[in-house]
Amino acid sequence: MIRSDSDTVREVLDTPIRGEYDVIVCGGGVAGAAAAAAAAREDARVLLIEKSVVLGGLAVNGLISYYEPICTGTGKKLMTGMAEELFRLAICYGPDTLPDEWKGLPEEAAGEARCASVFSPALFAMALDKWLLDAGVELLLDTWVVQALGERDEVRGVLVENKTGRGAYLSKAVIDATGDADLFFRKGLPCVTGTNYLSYIAYVTDWKQMQEGMESGNLLKARRWVNAGSDLWGRGHPEGYPQMSGVTAEEVTKFVLDGRAALFERVSGQERLSRDVTVLPTMAQLRTTRRIQGRYTLTEADCGRHFADSIGVATDFHHRDRLYELPAGILFHDDCPNLFTAGRTVSADGWAWHVTRVIPVAVATGQAAGVMAALKAKEGVEANETGMVRIQKALKRQGVRLHIE
Ligand SMILES: Cc1cc2nc3c(=O)[nH]c(=O)nc-3n(C[C@H](O)[C@H](O)[C@H](O)COP(=O)(O)OP(=O)(O)OC[C@H]3O[C@@H](n4cnc5c(N)ncnc54)[C@H](O)[C@@H]3O)c2cc1C
Repeated sequence: MIRSDSDTVREVLDTPIRGEYDVIVCGGGVAGAAAAAAAAREDARVLLIEKSVVLGGLAVNGLISYYEPICTGTGKKLMTGMAEELFRLAICYGPDTLPDEWKGLPEEAAGEARCASVFSPALFAMALDKWLLDAGVELLLDTWVVQALGERDEVRGVLVENKTGRGAYLSKAVIDATGDADLFFRKGLPCVTGTNYLSYIAYVTDWKQMQEGMESGNLLKARRWVNAGSDLWGRGHPEGYPQMSGVTAEEVTKFVLDGRAALFERVSGQERLSRDVTVLPTMAQLRTTRRIQGRYTLTEADCGRHFADSIGVATDFHHRDRLYELPAGILFHDDCPNLFTAGRTVSADGWAWHVTRVIPVAVATGQAAGVMAALKAKEGVEANETGMVRIQKALKRQGVRLHIE
């Protein structure tokens, strides 16, 4: 039944329940993938729901494909657990640009180079499918999560839309790994909205580039990124162009169309047979749309600080030897303790948020959210002093380094 008044439509729907799980992960970027696998490793029954048909999110469909460092910047490997495991997976089947001294990801390496690498997004995406299925995660692609179910202080599953129609999936815990904090926002939990410079990065090749690929024996060198927008610091942002947050469909559309038009303008006049644009991004390259304001907000002042409730460690990709512990409170809000987030939507501010948003740290927070959600769903474990002992024990068993020292 539909009743309409001036500017709203009221829907009354009977939505079929299509399944029941311990943990549902919404969004299959690197954070969601890690969260799903980590929850499954705690014996939770897990469903991972992704709106596109290829896993990996920005790292894959956004063509980012550069795994930022997992080392301290002073020659020591810092990040372990899935941050390291997915790094290995990202470069396992395809070419890489890992510096020689870091080949095999040793504990220490001499020299200045950081332990980071470009990877093949396509091979990483296919490897992720297998990695998740092997972990026992159920996957549902081409499916939009539209809403969390439940009361204000508890989630009981999610509503989805897909080819089958509208459906409900029930669960005891939910992880919002949408990259946009969609579920937190729609539930009315506090979120912060960011702004972005224009960014439109595609893969391009030409004869010279192909020759470089052949001569180096590394096919990653046979293509390069071309950015028709700006870099992280706004260099290249068109004068007078608005900085967008990307939290409305109209803004996302404008951001993508303007970026693509700028790339087309740049390449369309070039000699037709001299080059090709080999891959376009299939995701808007917005660094920040929305992130949560959780129990704790990490800031730059927390650099080097010890947290008793740390769920992992992070290294600053831009500054050497600037290390962070990640307190559990960046992953949830106390008003709804069985809803977690991970990846670029954790509760962090300023440069500390930049530290948390990159691929290895998104994986680390994903792994922690997965463990916390699984333990909450299966044993009712809370993020209090006693519960953190149980959570940290499970994370350590999964190979995570919890503290800087
Ligand atoms: C221009 C740019 C350059 C960057 N450069 C680097 C770099 O060099 N190195 C680096 O490490 N990081 C870099 N980053 C950051 C990094 O790529 C991302 O922050 C990180 O990959 C985010 O992972 P995520 O899983 O948190 O989110 P996302 O990758 O955004 O994944 C979210 C997933 O959820 C899905 N989803 C969204 N909404 C829904 C819904 N309602 N229902 C179902 N599914 C949904 C999306 O399709 C997506 O797959 C860059 C980012 C940008 C934009």
